[in-house]
Amino acid sequence: MDQIKLTIDGKAVEVPKGTTIYKAAKSLGIDIPILCYMDLKGLNIENKPGGCRICVVEVEGRRNLASSCSTDVSEGMVVKTSTIRVLNARRTVMELILSDHPKDCLTCAKSGKCDLQDMAIKLGIRNIPGQEFAEMSTYRLDTSPSIIRDMDKCIMCRRCETMCNDFQTVGALSAVNRGFMSVVAPAFEMNLEHSPCTYCGQCVAVCPTGALTEVDHTRNVIAALSDPTKTVIVQTAPAVRAALGEEFGLEPGTLVTGKMVTALRTLGFDYVFDTDFAADLTIMEEGSELLGRLGKFIAGDKDVKLPILTSCCPAWVNFFEHNFPDMKDIPSTARSPQQMFGSIAKTYFADKIGVKREDLIVVSIMPCLAKKYECQRDEFSVDGNPDVDFSISTRELGFLIKQANIQFNGLPDEDFDKPMGESTGAAVIFGTTGGVIEAAARTAYELHTGNTLTNVDFKELRGLEGIRHATIDFGGFPLKIGIAHGLGNARKLLEDIKAGRSEFHAIEIMACPGGCIGGGGQPLHHGDSTILKARAKAIYAEDESKTLRKSHENPYIIKLYEEFLGKPLSEKAHHLLHTHYFDKSKNTFSI
Ligand code: SF4
Repeated sequence: MDQIKLTIDGKAVEVPKGTTIYKAAKSLGIDIPILCYMDLKGLNIENKPGGCRICVVEVEGRRNLASSCSTDVSEGMVVKTSTIRVLNARRTVMELILSDHPKDCLTCAKSGKCDLQDMAIKLGIRNIPGQEFAEMSTYRLDTSPSIIRDMDKCIMCRRCETMCNDFQTVGALSAVNRGFMSVVAPAFEMNLEHSPCTYCGQCVAVCPTGALTEVDHTRNVIAALSDPTKTVIVQTAPAVRAALGEEFGLEPGTLVTGKMVTALRTLGFDYVFDTDFAADLTIMEEGSELLGRLGKFIAGDKDVKLPILTSCCPAWVNFFEHNFPDMKDIPSTARSPQQMFGSIAKTYFADKIGVKREDLIVVSIMPCLAKKYECQRDEFSVDGNPDVDFSISTRELGFLIKQANIQFNGLPDEDFDKPMGESTGAAVIFGTTGGVIEAAARTAYELHTGNTLTNVDFKELRGLEGIRHATIDFGGFPLKIGIAHGLGNARKLLEDIKAGRSEFHAIEIMACPGGCIGGGGQPLHHGDSTILKARAKAIYAEDESKTLRKSHENPYIIKLYEEFLGKPLSEKAHHLLHTHYFDKSKNTFSI
């Protein structure tokens, strides 16, 4: 590869041809300020539109300043990154951006975590000249079940567009209009709800301002907790415990399961349960479905629908309903753990404690924004009463704990309540890519072969590569498994199935990078694979620490079937734990 020699701030450096000035400076330890630029190394995604011009630098011999994130180095180039001219330019750019930005920093959802605010502080902006004459643009607030779009706050960095189109291949957001009126919007300026948006929330996770935020359900939760006529129970998803600590300054991957339980009890929840209980239940249903289809296939049935696709990620479900509706009979019909939990809570558990359905409020804490949408789907309610009433993200739980002035890091560890707080290690690993299929393999293997699995760690299914595959010996039958995280990767596997090229028997798909550990509702990770790896490590550590590591060994799941459901895939189980899918392609507008 050709090497280029240049000088930056008086220091000589040699970098490969095609390197940007920004990256060449970084290799010298010079940190040029950035705003729209984004480099998600772990995902191989780079956003470098050179649009905001905060990263401008002086290049000797050029009249105009160059945006360092989008300008490649050239032989003999002399670059200066911190002259007064550069500083003035950055300050002017920032003042222009702020002149067209709402001034609601004290109450904005991104307050304290806004890149724009941080940059304004860094550049010493204290007032905005001419602001009194600037007319604010006013856009209609676009509120969907999961995400709010406030385009008055959009600075056209286009990070969201990169995540939505390049990483997820969803195509819900793209740039429209020109000049001061340009914003990122769904095609034909429709709202998110009438676009192919899957609500994965990856746009929210990278938005540097408050232009894209989650719908806040913490007020509803506070209202429910304040109502003495209601019994309020909470379930916490597996990925939350591996990331919540980051909201309180703890290192990524610090497991805070016990502190989280104590904090939730302190907030006033009547029962603190674990979504992992329902993840074990999901494996019982989904694993039985896999074995049923596999049995028919081995017996020579050519019409059986294989590969079976996992169905616990609502953004992924939304994706295939919009983009591959002709394949909607391939995924498992098992509901997600969040919804299985809600359904069992409002029937079996409500009966056990003698509370009427309408007086039981189910709250979920999820790493996910799509779960907010999922719990509002019509098929997951009875006479208008939802199985899960409110879903809040890991970040929202962090806010709630801080609002209540609970000193999180000093809390003692407490255990989940029974019966819906008991879970196995198999359920915990649902939180990371490959975990759902590994959990299913542990149970399906034992049920299929009748043998005890001595080593439950299917390490060949683990890792962070976007698409992975492995073959597992299922008592002489080679079970071929595929795994994808990120909807762009999922699309490739689906195209293969459609074209008859897929050899897999089962495929796990999760929408977010790394699976739920990188969910749109998690503490912001900006695709940093070190953070994702630390969270995954914590999840596997919790799995290893459990005495029971196979879903079918959970004593409370065994009891649930004995007392209430009968057996997996029974009529009652189908009614309460399974679902059906819709053709949403007519809602899908291509950009
Ligand atoms: Fe939600 Fe997990 Fe799916 Fe992301 S991968 S959309 S966090 S269920």
